[in-house]
Amino acid sequence: MMKRGREVIRRIGKSISQIIRDRKKRITLIGVFWAVVIIGLSGWYLSFSWLKYNAVASTKAIQLAESLQALLHAEHVSELTGKEEDLGKHGYLLTKSSLKDLVEITKSIRYAYLIAEQNGEIVLLVDSGEPDMSQTSWPGQVYADAGKEQRIVFATGETVFTEPAKDRISVLVPIKDESTGSVIAVFGIDYSLKEWRAELAKSMVPDIVIVITILILAFSMLYGWYLRSTNVNLTKQLTYDEVLYHSVFTQAPIGIAIVNDKKFVHMSDYGHSNMNPIFEQILGRTSRELESIAWPDITHPDDLPKDMELFEQFRRGETDGYSLEKRFLRPDGSYVWTSMKISRLFADRTQASHLCLLEDITARKETASALKESERRESVLLSYLPGLAYRCKYEPEGTMLFVSDGCYSLTGYKPESFIYNRDLPFKDIIAPADRERLWEEWQRTVPNKLPYQCEYAITTVSGEQKWVLEIGRGIYNERDEVEALEGIILNITDRKKIENRLRYINEHDRWTGLYNREYLEKVLTQDTRSAMPGKRALISINLSTVQLLTANYGFHYTQKLIKKASEALKQYCDESHSFFKTYENRFVFYVKDYKEKKDLLDLCDSIAGTLESVFETDRIAGGIGIIEIDRERDENVDSLLKKLLIASEKSLNIFDKDFHACFYDEALEAKVNREGDIRQELSRVAAEDDSSNLYLMFQPILDLKTDKICGFEALARLNTEKLGVVSPVEFIPIAEKTKLIVPIGEKIFYKAFAFLKKLEARGYDTVSVAVNVSAVQLLRPDFADKLHEILRETHVNPLNVAVEITESVFSSDYEKINDIIHRLRESGIQISIDDFGTGYSSLARERALNVDCLKIDKFFIDNMLKVGSQKSITADIISMAHKLGHYTVAEGVEHEEQKQYLSECGCDKIQGYYIAKPLPEETALAFLDGRK
Ligand code: C2E
Ligand code: CA
Ligand code: CA
Repeated sequence: MMKRGREVIRRIGKSISQIIRDRKKRITLIGVFWAVVIIGLSGWYLSFSWLKYNAVASTKAIQLAESLQALLHAEHVSELTGKEEDLGKHGYLLTKSSLKDLVEITKSIRYAYLIAEQNGEIVLLVDSGEPDMSQTSWPGQVYADAGKEQRIVFATGETVFTEPAKDRISVLVPIKDESTGSVIAVFGIDYSLKEWRAELAKSMVPDIVIVITILILAFSMLYGWYLRSTNVNLTKQLTYDEVLYHSVFTQAPIGIAIVNDKKFVHMSDYGHSNMNPIFEQILGRTSRELESIAWPDITHPDDLPKDMELFEQFRRGETDGYSLEKRFLRPDGSYVWTSMKISRLFADRTQASHLCLLEDITARKETASALKESERRESVLLSYLPGLAYRCKYEPEGTMLFVSDGCYSLTGYKPESFIYNRDLPFKDIIAPADRERLWEEWQRTVPNKLPYQCEYAITTVSGEQKWVLEIGRGIYNERDEVEALEGIILNITDRKKIENRLRYINEHDRWTGLYNREYLEKVLTQDTRSAMPGKRALISINLSTVQLLTANYGFHYTQKLIKKASEALKQYCDESHSFFKTYENRFVFYVKDYKEKKDLLDLCDSIAGTLESVFETDRIAGGIGIIEIDRERDENVDSLLKKLLIASEKSLNIFDKDFHACFYDEALEAKVNREGDIRQELSRVAAEDDSSNLYLMFQPILDLKTDKICGFEALARLNTEKLGVVSPVEFIPIAEKTKLIVPIGEKIFYKAFAFLKKLEARGYDTVSVAVNVSAVQLLRPDFADKLHEILRETHVNPLNVAVEITESVFSSDYEKINDIIHRLRESGIQISIDDFGTGYSSLARERALNVDCLKIDKFFIDNMLKVGSQKSITADIISMAHKLGHYTVAEGVEHEEQKQYLSECGCDKIQGYYIAKPLPEETALAFLDGRK
């Protein structure tokens, strides 16, 4: 944080000094510009004055020369020939002395002379020089210094003021012949250039003084302006500094305070700069409060010794400052972790005041300790992990970046052997078939930010195979790119073993070791879902008839036989024929990829042959059902297997002796559908209050002693538009299966009792009605109560009510059944055992049965007619029943002969087509009336 603060300050400072530097540059540029302008103007003025004075002086010189020329006499001049002979001439001498006088009198004139043009050359005629002087010349001497200007005078006859040449400047005045006007000579005066200029300079003095004064004024003004500008700049810089300092002081994320020895300085001494708000905030105390506190008093005791030691060194001047991480006590008793930096405020080491900078590092300390704690926990967790933790690259190879120590005990490889694939990639120890699967699982989950999970086999360093479970997820950066994967790989070998064992148990039949029905269902479901091409069929082998052998030879015998059959059938197993044991004594072949029905029939023939040889001695028959799977129709595996069962049952029923295949076909299908329809109808009947679809037929029962109709048996019928009249043989089992028999049974009681009421109404008050009751009904705990309730409700005499139950009910809870029967009989209801002789019970057990009547099954009655039949059995049953105190009813009497014989045997009552078929209510009543 301190570092960041410093960076911010540095940046602000940098931009401010940049602004200032730019301003200074501008000011200097402006200053230089004006200075140049002022100096330029002054120079221009001075040179202008100079030229002006020069012009004035040259005009004066010309005027002087012209007036002097007038003084020279032309006749004297014309005398001169420019030859030696002139020396003696009067004109020469006179002119020479005039010239000499001129030079002498006029100080600025250095030399005066007359020149003439002779033979194209300029020659001196006479000059002001003394004859003894080196400067002097003799007449006719060529004037060496003559130039263009001299010739111009001769040519034009006009006065010329020459340009400065060498050390002089000259005025040349022509002397003309008065009569001809031609130039006979030129009068020249030379001024000393130095003196000429000095003269000019002298006249320039006032101008120079003026210019200097103006310059001084201008420059002092410019300077004043410059000073002001730079001053403004400085003030601005100071303001910037102030603002910067203040914002840094108050806003920097660092606490700043000035400390004097062990005390925080007073605000009165240093103004608001003694301490910034952050400092107060970190320590949780205001500047005022801190004035009265010495810092050792609010230092954590553990940090104080170190702080004091460093401070003493600092105070003695041995160090210029120190840094320390220490804790300060806050007023609420908590400690705040700070990073403290002490430094000198003044260069003078004897000064006790110093600067204290604080940074609150509590959060960092907490994270650090939390991190340490989590690292500790992580390492504990890792050490208990039954496997390894890893971090790897998101790529098919899955290069490991980190592998925990658990790797060694799991794989036998040291963790570092997998890091960056040093010895081998971790993927290499995964079973080849599983590698691709794992990569697919990663690809499926990681880009979607989902966790992944995969079970696979690995081979350890010793070659042992282990099962592992890999769980993990991706680690993503801010751009949501996968940085790596992190997860754990757990040893699940033990679990997998149990699981495999369990799966084996779940999928196999224990006795034969064949796959079981659950597994077949699984396979079928899978194949249906995966839309496998090719024809598929199921062949069911129904050996339920072996049960018949159990009675004679015992359970183990039949079990062994079943095993023998399964062993023999296994020979037909191959790639396209799998073999299952689905239900008790039933097998199924699942056939795939056959061509036509004939293939199936051929297989069934072979199967039949094999089974016939297995059961050769036992003479057992069985059913073979075939169903060709129709993908659309047979999506539901459960109903598919049921259809197969139906086909095999059918085969069993049709072909008694041998093994013959029976295809599941339309007719069978219709049967299956019919069951559904019946079920639907039954539920409708059960739900409706008064349904005419369910009605009763009444079959008369004749008392042989009195030859009178003593009662009726109520027989239920179901009549629907779709199915027509349905026999109870068909719908009662369905009602029992669906438990609909309970509400339907109640309805039958109501209908039967209504018939009884009609009988009573017609005066037949001793004629009874027998109602058939299923085991499912009877075993309901509230059956007796319910029946009593209906009796009360309908005001029916219980003595005229009989309940027919089959022997099979006694196979369940004998005691319980007897108890129910007892309760019914107590109220006067008669109990009959229906279909006596065909069921499970033995005559011996009937002894204990607390019933009124035995209804001897039609089987025995039919048998009486057969030649050499066991007539005696029926007679025995009747006499035994009588001994036990029961009366007997013979069922299914169709012939006079039977009636005769039963009469002889002392049978009490008979029932059958010989007397009457089951009759509709009205017909039954009429029948009764007719018998009167
Ligand atoms: P069940 O109680 O043994 O009824 C006698 C069956 O034999 C009746 O068949 C009747 O029509 C038939 N039968 C009577 N005399 C002769 C005869 O001389 N020759 C031949 N061939 N048959 C004769 P149904 O009505 O089809 O009833 C069949 C079975 O349905 C009944 O056998 C009974 O077990 C059951 N059942 C009928 N109604 C009910 C009922 O209301 N409740 C219950 N739980 N079961 C009923
Ligand atoms: Ca019956
Ligand atoms: Ca019966």
